[in-house]
Amino acid sequence: KVRVRFAPSPTGALHIGGVRTALFNYLFAKKHGGDFILRIEDTDQNRYVEGAEQYIIDALNWCNIPYDEGPGKEAGFGPYRQSERKDLYKKYADILIEKGHAYYAFDTAEELDETRKEYEVNGKTFIYNWHNRLQLSNSLSLSQEETQEKLASGAAYVIRFKSPQDQKLHLKDLIRGSIHIDTNILDDKVLFKSDGMPTYHLANIVDDHLMEITHVIRGEEWLPSMALHQLLYSAFDWEAPEFAHLPLIMKPVGKGKLSKRDGEKLGFPVFPLSWKDAKGYREEGYFPEAVVNFLALLGWNPGTEQEIFSLEELTDIFSIERVNKSGARFDPDKTKWYNQHYMQEKSNTSLAKAFRPILEAKNLPIAADRTSVGYMTEVISLIKERAAFISDLWDLSDYFYAAPTTYNEKAVKKQWKEDTADIMGQLVVVLEGITDFSSANVETVVKEWIAAQELSFGKVMPPLRLVIVGDMKGPHIFDIIAMIGKEDSIERIKKAIA
Ligand code: GLU
Repeated sequence: KVRVRFAPSPTGALHIGGVRTALFNYLFAKKHGGDFILRIEDTDQNRYVEGAEQYIIDALNWCNIPYDEGPGKEAGFGPYRQSERKDLYKKYADILIEKGHAYYAFDTAEELDETRKEYEVNGKTFIYNWHNRLQLSNSLSLSQEETQEKLASGAAYVIRFKSPQDQKLHLKDLIRGSIHIDTNILDDKVLFKSDGMPTYHLANIVDDHLMEITHVIRGEEWLPSMALHQLLYSAFDWEAPEFAHLPLIMKPVGKGKLSKRDGEKLGFPVFPLSWKDAKGYREEGYFPEAVVNFLALLGWNPGTEQEIFSLEELTDIFSIERVNKSGARFDPDKTKWYNQHYMQEKSNTSLAKAFRPILEAKNLPIAADRTSVGYMTEVISLIKERAAFISDLWDLSDYFYAAPTTYNEKAVKKQWKEDTADIMGQLVVVLEGITDFSSANVETVVKEWIAAQELSFGKVMPPLRLVIVGDMKGPHIFDIIAMIGKEDSIERIKKAIA
């Protein structure tokens, strides 16, 4: 059975790239009828941030990609927080020492610094590996007795992996294909720290093994760790999971990976939910469907021109083989485009309900019948085509709720002629005589009147829109007039010519 995990460290808000990793894991699991596991990698106590775990869980839930197993959803493989598993890791470090794949190292930070400097003076970079380890104070350079003595005396130590010498590794990544690594370039990574905690590498491998993870799908930044991880699986004699490293998400412009700064500069969120002073997609009015849709296409492609996918469709057609090798450029305009699309799919009634608090917050004297769900729903059906966000609805429809208080100056200059006030005055009389104030009927009557008077459309329609809307924008003018009704329509014209 396919089992995948998303394994974030709770060090702050989850970046949108992290959400993409979670999404791809989720899709892969669902596609194969497998399980999606959340594991919290909180072994680095210095970087632990209060609230970050809850943030991660809330973000996954908001995106509708909940985990099957994880904190609060035990399924026999827990606990799912590494801090709650910490007693388990030492045993595995000891196993590696016994097998000769790891060793104690007693170097102090100062000693290592000094060594590093010596190398630099000679124009070389210091790598803690087979070349150099015998010169350092580790259990490979010390005698057995000396090591035991040091341990007994309570000297601080770390446990390091003994990376093998002169081996050629052939690694396989489901996205990148074959990767060849010469083990001589690897350093002896710390597996177990002097504070009694495992490092990421040890805890990650032990947990993936114990949790029976079949596929490790994670960001490209972990690709350099793959060799070590593969070596650790061999050292334990464990079967390694398959690996897939997802391409980076790149800045909208320029080089490099998308960062929080890019969002701040260009005014778009890089987090799913807001976090302290950083904006979130949820709070900025994005729909989770839109976020999931654009994230899915960051680094994956369906092989067709199709761009709109529901989560269900994605689950059906997602495949690791169609994940790209190269970085995916983030396009903030496209995220808006997606939101506009999903906005159109929402029912007008649900949009009306969501828009009502925004309308009320305007604190304008709006007639009660205009804040009814019925009225608002109809307004929304007329204008929503152009809206990407619920908050856009106000600018697109303010005149449906209250008469304009100003008129677009440019438009006034262009449309308001010497005889306009007079024509508008006549139009008032025409409107006053209409009883059936439906859009179609008002249109027929007004057009007949224009024809009878031998006026041109240009003399009547643009100024009419201007006095009703305050601007040249908006849907069909007779739809607007029918919506706001006879009394208000006439009042708006009168006010403009008074
Ligand atoms: N804890 C690592 C992270 O924060 C997990 C990397 C992995 O998936 O192996 O991304």
